[in-house]
Amino acid sequence: NFISAVVPSEEIGVKFDDIGALEDVKKALNELVILPMRRPELFSRGNLLRPCKGILLFGPPGTGKTLLAKALATEAGANFISITGSTLTSKWFGDAEKLTKALFSFASKLAPVIIFVDEVDSLLGARGGAFEHEATRRMRNEFMAAWDGLRSKENQRILILGATNRPFDLDDAVIRRLPRRIYVDLPDAENRMKILRIVLAQENLVPDFEYDKLAKLTEGYSGSDLKNLCIAAAYRPVQELIEEEKKGGNSNTTSGLRPLNLDDFV
Ligand code: ATP
Repeated sequence: NFISAVVPSEEIGVKFDDIGALEDVKKALNELVILPMRRPELFSRGNLLRPCKGILLFGPPGTGKTLLAKALATEAGANFISITGSTLTSKWFGDAEKLTKALFSFASKLAPVIIFVDEVDSLLGARGGAFEHEATRRMRNEFMAAWDGLRSKENQRILILGATNRPFDLDDAVIRRLPRRIYVDLPDAENRMKILRIVLAQENLVPDFEYDKLAKLTEGYSGSDLKNLCIAAAYRPVQELIEEEKKGGNSNTTSGLRPLNLDDFV
């Protein structure tokens, strides 16, 4: 429970191609992570090119930060460990040191590995002054010390990837340890269309389905909002079929589900 998931690289099952939009983010992650993890020998000479040990993904909720983290591990051929900041601080007050040490020693055995820290602000947020729980403070200090130990081992392929919706809550000391910060933005209409194409790829749609109209109608939606909208829409034909069956005494099931059209989404 301390670690919410440990997944071997080949079992993650999400690739960059499964993420619509965010092309600039993928490009940056390719240079910062994928290349150094796949070709460490190219980054071991001189002082300028050093594999990056900490990256922060920040941006509004539901924009695909978790999805990106998983896909990144696949693309980098790295194992994936995921922990959630709020779970750590609420459940593990007592054993901060032990657990943090266990996490980092486990991670170094799994290298190349990406440690994804969701809600990194809850674990490593700004120091809470007099009201901060002593155990939270210990946990954070322990985490940072272990992290520094890791940063000094140049060749170890371990990356801490933090994600947050509240970057301004982060402690300066944490910001320093996450030298690369990548903004994961809400999609514009063109990118919403790309996301919709991916989310709806396996669905039965009317042949002239108007992706462009749907993209325009969903201003302000995140990737996660779009996915939820599509789930609700996909349910409509099912609902209709069930209604029809009720009326007609379940004789009509063979006609199957009708394809989705734009009206199902609005
Ligand atoms: P939060 O900040 O709330 O934790 P998040 O930024 O980590 O959210 P995800 O959990 O990655 O967002 O996104 C939720 C779901 O929305 C994903 O599992 C995926 O199904 C869908 N989704 C989000 N963004 C995209 C995208 N760009 N392409 C395809 N699917 C997406």
